[in-house]
Amino acid sequence: MALMLDANVTSNLVPSVNWDTLNSSVSGRLFQYAPFARACFEDAEGVVGTYDVNACAFAQAHYSDGQYRDTIPSSYQGLQWETCPSKGESCLLDWTNPLNEAAFDAPKTCHQGSIPTYFLDVQTATDVQNAFKFSVETGVNLVVKNTGHEFQGRSARPGSLALWTKNLQKIEYEPAWIPTGCEDTAPRTVVRLGPGITFSDLYAFGEANNITLPGGSTPSVSATGGYVLGGGHGSLSNTAGLGTDRALEFTIVVPTGDVLTANACQNTDLYFALRGGGGGTFGVVMETVTLALPRTPIHVITLDGLSSDTDTTKAFWKVLVDNSLEWANAGWGGVAGATSLQYVNPLPITEEEARTSMQPLTEFAAQLNLTVGQEQYDSFALFYQQVLEPLYAISGFPLSTVSRLLPAKNFETSTSREELLEALLNASANHSLTYVFATTPYAYKADNLTSLTPAWRDSLLLIEVLDTLEYNATASEQKTVIEGLSKSMDYLRNITPDSGTYFSESDLYEPEFENSFWGANYERLAEIKVKYDPLHILDCWHCVGWKGRSDEAYSCYP
Ligand SMILES: Cc1cc2nc3c(=O)[nH]c(=O)nc-3n(C[C@H](O)[C@H](O)[C@H](O)COP(=O)(O)OP(=O)(O)OC[C@H]3O[C@@H](n4cnc5c(N)ncnc54)[C@H](O)[C@@H]3O)c2cc1C
Repeated sequence: MALMLDANVTSNLVPSVNWDTLNSSVSGRLFQYAPFARACFEDAEGVVGTYDVNACAFAQAHYSDGQYRDTIPSSYQGLQWETCPSKGESCLLDWTNPLNEAAFDAPKTCHQGSIPTYFLDVQTATDVQNAFKFSVETGVNLVVKNTGHEFQGRSARPGSLALWTKNLQKIEYEPAWIPTGCEDTAPRTVVRLGPGITFSDLYAFGEANNITLPGGSTPSVSATGGYVLGGGHGSLSNTAGLGTDRALEFTIVVPTGDVLTANACQNTDLYFALRGGGGGTFGVVMETVTLALPRTPIHVITLDGLSSDTDTTKAFWKVLVDNSLEWANAGWGGVAGATSLQYVNPLPITEEEARTSMQPLTEFAAQLNLTVGQEQYDSFALFYQQVLEPLYAISGFPLSTVSRLLPAKNFETSTSREELLEALLNASANHSLTYVFATTPYAYKADNLTSLTPAWRDSLLLIEVLDTLEYNATASEQKTVIEGLSKSMDYLRNITPDSGTYFSESDLYEPEFENSFWGANYERLAEIKVKYDPLHILDCWHCVGWKGRSDEAYSCYP
């Protein structure tokens, strides 16, 4: 089996490693892959002549196409993870204008950056077992890469071998499923998903099978992968729970080489760890069984066209803060920004009840001569396809984020609500984007087999503040942006001292991250990590048991 070598991917090769042996053991599915935009550069890693006019035009045209990016192993949706900022090495186009030649004109050179040197197109558990064995024998570092949506760069790593799971595309409907080894459990309707299945695939499959499959916003994100392993919130989470809550069974290859089934009846420690302990840490998940709901109509409330001036934002967010508790109890969930809102309610309430419940928003909008849209859709998937998908379809730009879960107790009195509103406005001031996510599982009755911070359970909102980065931002410029976001989030951290945040969408420099992501569950997670990965083959940024900032793996981090 010939190893697919790319002459322009030479930067990070580990010397004296017999890649051919690994390649033979995985049926020739080991390959190298150059950066997305390499064809626009005349020079790649010192090799001249890589410019290709047609291939460059294609890369430019698809630069922010998340679904196309998903299919490219070397592509990361947060572009900074394709680069090595600390060495000033990258191969990016100007995402604000991919035609901008200043990004790639000579003497600019294309570098592999933090993109893994090799990829293994994972098809079978044996592939993963061989890769683990290879890593132990050679010292080559591994990373698990799926769609590349990770905000913290956990699926990138310079010089590594990536276990690429995007081509695990199983999607099966099982109307009367019983967990393996739980024979006395009542059958449930589920779907069995490979990590390569995205939200776009998921919603279409739910429609075709007359079921509801809750999920997140951006169509190109994996419906299981890092989403489920780290938490997974979406517009239905208030009543349907997080992605983690709905995962009933995992098939996983752990670093000891065992292929295990983890559910509520067997390997329960691993089941607990995979339900919120984070991706890329405990093994490679090959399949996830997730719980379906019947297909039901939903009420939808939308508001658009708000001005982004401070007074309007303050008045708008005051309505959200004042009503979040009542709305969560009534079954509403969704997303708002500074200028728009899309909320849904899947409970069997009447149109009149929906209208009454949203009266404060309607009155607010009327003062601005705006109208709140109220509609019923036959299913969440139809609403997603028609409304949310077009709003969230783009991807492929460098983005930094910070977030905080806001507990219900901060919404209880008018004084605490005022304090919260001020903190929210301060946290969001001078940043590119703020999301007010009413996507916490507040009205959902969870089991106690998840490892997320319990702060998710009694919080009403997840606040996320984001900044985009320039395509050519230096490490120090990136650091300034990240520190600025972190400082702003202190306004909310200070008034929510016992809360935490979402592992997958947090501050890159999250303070006391173990407590923030997992709270009191961390200690148990750390023990489980040692049990299933005793040689510490898998490591990632701010993951359970990570090796720390000074490890060579993080030398590119700003
Ligand atoms: C544009 C955008 C929109 C988003 N929208 C939402 C949203 O609506 N709701 C929400 O909750 N989150 C959202 N996220 C966050 C997203 O859920 C996380 O970034 C998630 O980790 C992505 O997982 P992935 O597998 O798709 O990506 P990857 O970057 O490929 O992987 C992410 C992490 O999971 C690990 N991993 C992936 N596959 C496996 C596997 N098979 N086995 C073991 N580990 C694995 C990787 O090692 C890595 O640590 C969004 C992110 C972006 C960039």
